[in-house]
Amino acid sequence: MEPPLDRSTTWPYVDGEPGPFHYARNAHPVGVEAEQRLGELDGGEALLFSSGMGATTAVVLALLSPGSTVALAHDAYYGTGVLLSELERWGLRHELYDQTGPPPAGADLVWIEAPSNPLLTMPDFEAAAAHPGLVVCDATAATPVHLRPLEHGCDLVLHSATKYLAGHHDVLLGAVVCRNREHAERLRELRTRTGIVAAPDAAWLLLRGLKTLELRVARQSETAATLAARLGEHEAVLVVRYPGFGGLLSFDVAGGEEARRVETSTRLIVNATSLGGVASTMETRHRWEGDRVPPGLLRLAVGLEAPEDLWSDLQQALEQP
Ligand code: PLP
Repeated sequence: MEPPLDRSTTWPYVDGEPGPFHYARNAHPVGVEAEQRLGELDGGEALLFSSGMGATTAVVLALLSPGSTVALAHDAYYGTGVLLSELERWGLRHELYDQTGPPPAGADLVWIEAPSNPLLTMPDFEAAAAHPGLVVCDATAATPVHLRPLEHGCDLVLHSATKYLAGHHDVLLGAVVCRNREHAERLRELRTRTGIVAAPDAAWLLLRGLKTLELRVARQSETAATLAARLGEHEAVLVVRYPGFGGLLSFDVAGGEEARRVETSTRLIVNATSLGGVASTMETRHRWEGDRVPPGLLRLAVGLEAPEDLWSDLQQALEQP
């Protein structure tokens, strides 16, 4: 009933020849099983990596070259921009753009995020798909429950599977799902060469998490929609950002000091980074992202707690003197 967890790093040759599994950096059984499952969910060919950032690194190194330009949604996960800046010294260029409109002409790859973390904008898929470059959609916050980007003309989907897909704040994992076999082959080749691979335990935890993905995300979305509506009516809240689906939202209070008071006053919601687990987490993002986001912005990743308990917790935190 449960998939076996084979932690072998090497398997015997078959009649003196390597079989389907021979060395774990190339492939391992539970990894392949998890990839098949995720591939079905997103409608493409999935590959696992050691983290979401590992997956991003693999996409860029496998499919671009020195001199290539990435058009990056300016509000995409801040770590994506940090990585692209790091790779500038290897000759990779990137320019930021507003993903709610068309990507700049001339880019080799368009990087969108649906919805963006933590400003929660949605990309213009039609405009991105009409661009001649490759289109990658980071759909970490949407998950295949709400969005299958390959059906909207994207070439690749990226997931930090650390978040909703695995879903329990206990495994670091990334994935890329490809529309086209050549991209998958190229990524597989680079993954084996660089060793940015997912461990068997991580893949096993992903399989476990996927069993409850739909239920978790449905419940988180329902609760998040309720909380977003109530936050919008609270007098201490200036703005609420919620795309209408998913468990992630952000809202602004008056300033940095007020936001710090709110994040340190919750009793049920954990004041921590990351998102997508069964426990709700909330933090100010200014500490990490600086002036990309307002100092009073709080990002809330809604978990599976009772909605009324979460609302009471938010209310008392917002009303601290
Ligand atoms: N993409 C998004 C939207 C994220 O939120 C994150 C992490 O927070 C990443 C990618 C990077 O994933 P990981 O932390 O698994 O490397």
